[in-house]
Amino acid sequence: MTDPVVVVGGGQVAVQLCLALRKEKYQGDIVVLSEENELPYHRPPLSKAYITGKTDDEKLVMRPFSFYESRNIDLKLNTAVTAIDCDRQTVHTQNSALKYRYLVLATGALARQLPIEGKDANGVFELRDLPDARALKAHLDGAADVVVIGAGFIGLEAAAALRQTGCRVTVFDTADRVMGRAVSPEVSQWFTETHTQAGINILLNEGIARIAVDSNHQVCGVVRQNGETVSADTVLIGVGVLPHVELADSAGISCDNGIVVDEYCRTSTPAVFAAGDCASHPNRFAGGRHVRLESVQNATDQARTIAGVIAAADQGDQSAAPYAAVPWFWSDQAEHSLQMTGLAYDVNGRVTRGDPDAGSFSVFQFNGAQLVAVDSVNASRDHMLARKMLASSVSPSFEQVADSDFDLKTLI
Ligand SMILES: Cc1cc2nc3c(=O)[nH]c(=O)nc-3n(C[C@H](O)[C@H](O)[C@H](O)COP(=O)(O)OP(=O)(O)OC[C@H]3O[C@@H](n4cnc5c(N)ncnc54)[C@H](O)[C@@H]3O)c2cc1C
Repeated sequence: MTDPVVVVGGGQVAVQLCLALRKEKYQGDIVVLSEENELPYHRPPLSKAYITGKTDDEKLVMRPFSFYESRNIDLKLNTAVTAIDCDRQTVHTQNSALKYRYLVLATGALARQLPIEGKDANGVFELRDLPDARALKAHLDGAADVVVIGAGFIGLEAAAALRQTGCRVTVFDTADRVMGRAVSPEVSQWFTETHTQAGINILLNEGIARIAVDSNHQVCGVVRQNGETVSADTVLIGVGVLPHVELADSAGISCDNGIVVDEYCRTSTPAVFAAGDCASHPNRFAGGRHVRLESVQNATDQARTIAGVIAAADQGDQSAAPYAAVPWFWSDQAEHSLQMTGLAYDVNGRVTRGDPDAGSFSVFQFNGAQLVAVDSVNASRDHMLARKMLASSVSPSFEQVADSDFDLKTLI
């Protein structure tokens, strides 16, 4: 009997890998070890519909338990992997050891910690997993003053959702623009204005001195660098994530801002793969640089790549396809849809298509004449066309982009 494919982590990669392996007709055993005590669930709604009660636990679940059973997938919840012995091809949990034929590290990311006084007070939250979201949601009943620290995707999504429920919301960020690491300046500007018009107080270029706490260890405000206090009964810290690499690192698997993998998601150690938020991979849309992407698309497509490699090896075929998917991401903020595709490296030209004042536009970003990334705000058609253009290395001219009457579809 051959040893199983063992997956460490029970998130997006794990579920997609199970699906893809069985779709590829891989017949061997699959074991998924998840430290969480939840059936694998969708994380994106946690910072959007879930915290405001527009969706519930049941709808978050990716697949019912019967899905795993019927496909002969052994899903073990509440089972953290504590060590990997690469020489013996074995993973260890607190109570057991399990040999693997192939190991897939899908350990995701951890919320970055902010070293700030008051961060452990009641009423201070982060938002990485379902227990975090449950705790925040439960606390929000009766909350009125929310401070969000960090104007990234998760911070802004939550800020927008909470504003819609009537909370007063203030967002702080030390950067000079919102979502600054990920979107074009035009899109940062548009979301700053739009959220401000909706009543969110956005304070940029501003760090926090400390979180103020009352005698019951309950948060009561956030103290600004200038000494002023913004009152708050709820503080959400959303200052990014770090790849969850300790396990791999301790096992001697190469890590550098993530578990380092090649274009087939293979790590530095034979029979060990990594994918999703924890993996640093060479990406052709970043000029071959190693990048780490935190997106459902990346997790899904890397899982498919690994399934292809394992299934091909199983069938004695070495011709699996490398990871080459067009990167894309979405972020829903209140009623607005932000969709991004490509990777904005080496951008030296930007052209706006559509009308920001009318609330629907896209920013096409170029390196010379080469299209490299497109951010679309309430412009799904542009987004879908941009994905196709990037996939087939088609670049429109600046004039074609700027001319809304020109149908970009004719280029594909
Ligand atoms: C609040 C929120 C909103 C998001 N919104 C969007 C969005 O709008 N669009 C988008 O594209 N992406 C979004 N994302 C990102 C997306 O959810 C992630 O990129 C995706 O889930 C990554 O999948 P993964 O399998 O790599 O990691 P995860 O889905 O995070 O799963 C990792 C799993 O590994 C487990 N684990 C870690 N270590 C161990 C161990 N030692 N033993 C056992 N288990 C372990 C963890 O507990 C976790 O269950 C969002 C993420 C969050 C948190």
